[in-house]
Amino acid sequence: MKTGDHVPRVLILYPYDERLAATTAAGEAIRTRLLQATKARIDLFSEFLDLSRFPEAEHIGRMARYLSAKYADRRELAASAKVIVAGFSSFTAEEMDLPNDVVGAFSDFDIVKTAEMARGLQPEARHLFIIGGSSEFDRSWLARARADLAAFSKDYETTYLEDLTIEEFTKVAAEVPRDSIILALTILKDRDGRNFMPREAVKQIAETAGAPIYGPYLTYIDYGVVGGSVVTFESLGKTVADLALEAVAGKPISNLESPQTYVADARQLERWGLSEKNLPAGAIQMFKEPTFWEQYWLAAVFALAVITFQGTVIAGLLIERRRRQAAETESRHRLLEVVHLNQSATAGALSASIAHELNQPLGAIRSNAEAAAVILRSERPDLELIGQILVDIQDDDQRAHDVISRIRGLLKKRSEIDWQEFDLNEVATSAIRILRGEAERRSVVVSSSHTSRELPVRADRVHVQQVILNLATNAMDAMLEVITTEKRLLLETRLTTESQVELSISDTGRGIPDERLASIFEPFYTTKPHGTGLGLSIARAIVETYGGKISAANRPGGGAVFRVVLPLARNG
Ligand code: ADP
Repeated sequence: MKTGDHVPRVLILYPYDERLAATTAAGEAIRTRLLQATKARIDLFSEFLDLSRFPEAEHIGRMARYLSAKYADRRELAASAKVIVAGFSSFTAEEMDLPNDVVGAFSDFDIVKTAEMARGLQPEARHLFIIGGSSEFDRSWLARARADLAAFSKDYETTYLEDLTIEEFTKVAAEVPRDSIILALTILKDRDGRNFMPREAVKQIAETAGAPIYGPYLTYIDYGVVGGSVVTFESLGKTVADLALEAVAGKPISNLESPQTYVADARQLERWGLSEKNLPAGAIQMFKEPTFWEQYWLAAVFALAVITFQGTVIAGLLIERRRRQAAETESRHRLLEVVHLNQSATAGALSASIAHELNQPLGAIRSNAEAAAVILRSERPDLELIGQILVDIQDDDQRAHDVISRIRGLLKKRSEIDWQEFDLNEVATSAIRILRGEAERRSVVVSSSHTSRELPVRADRVHVQQVILNLATNAMDAMLEVITTEKRLLLETRLTTESQVELSISDTGRGIPDERLASIFEPFYTTKPHGTGLGLSIARAIVETYGGKISAANRPGGGAVFRVVLPLARNG
């Protein structure tokens, strides 16, 4: 790094290749901080030394020659350059015997803080096990831990597990009593001389361990440990960058410790029944996952919400563009994308209701199966009754299947419009089924009135269903805060002329301000805190694609009515 009035230059040397997440994450944090602090008035270079794949001295010599040649024309860089090292502890640095003018941003892997975190989470623990491997580094780590933990380990029956093979570590760890705390240092080598990535060894041990394992490395998280006091990549990167900035400003720099953070793996807390309330203040929980239904549905909803949010602006622009555009296929393609976004959002919004609907047949199948099991255990089982139960189970299975295929239809993505001739009444009925659960939840009474004859239209049925869903969810929203004796949603179909069918959706909600009636279909108009203002514009785009018209009005008795007119299919 060069000091003076030129733009400072910083070369980041990565010990391994670009795939090693730990170093690249720290490197990114360094870059970000440096760019930010200097308002990008800095020249950054990176080199990857690839030492894990080419550890031999020859390669190191070659790299050194190559790098000095490469940066030779920046001689001033070499002359006054300050060297900052990072990523290991001051303790390791002492062992490495670094040159005096090299400054370190050290990470102290603090086993005592990690042990204290364990004590907080397991106040009832009586045993303490400390695991360390057989390499030189592992052994010196063990020696240091012995000294550091001298006071802490007095409260426990303490055992150092060392000089073991990986199989022995695994076996012993599996047999420790449940009221134990296991601290993992590093296992770079086991007694047989086999080499390990420490976290891989820890993972193997943790899989069958009899008690929770803790470790002082961020890289152990997601490898079966509960957590520990660690230096995060961000914290390390920031410390290095701060040292570099001081050096660039011409100030003297000296060794620094990167601040530590408590990190816990929420899945491990759950696995061991440890309460997050007992985590130290400021601890970060990773992998915090919701319960089954939340996981199943909310995860989907969340993903969909993100998609919709990102899609909102694009979708709005696309719809507007489509309306002005003449190029048919292009615009059709865009319409399909937009409608798909809209479908996904609807599926997200209705997911709780769909889950509820799915639960009903599943619950029935379960109780029927239980009943059959009881009957079969009786002395003379009534086979006829069992036959009847099996028929019921098949029916419920079909119901569950129907629910799932409705969701599928809702989420299906198309590259072409799927033109079909279908009965509008039938699509209306199927849309009502999707909405039923949500309507019940909101105490909305849904009724429908259909013509007795079929009303064939030619369109993509999923699109028409989407129009109905958009209008019906809007209607339910409009009735949300209205205090009426009854929240009613009425879906009607009828034949208006010889060649036209009409579908109308009316509600007993708050109606639409008169001055808004004409412009309510414009994109982005919304009165809802989380609305997108796209539902109606998408509905209009769909209806117009199939040669139809959509309009809004207020009902004399209060509430709104939306009418969709579509051409009757030729053979109808
Ligand atoms: P969003 O539902 O995201 O707001 P829409 O385009 O579907 O977007 O609706 C736009 C706006 O039209 C709504 O915010 C609401 O103010 C109004 N609106 C739609 N349907 C009704 C209705 N049935 N009754 C009253 N207002 C409605």
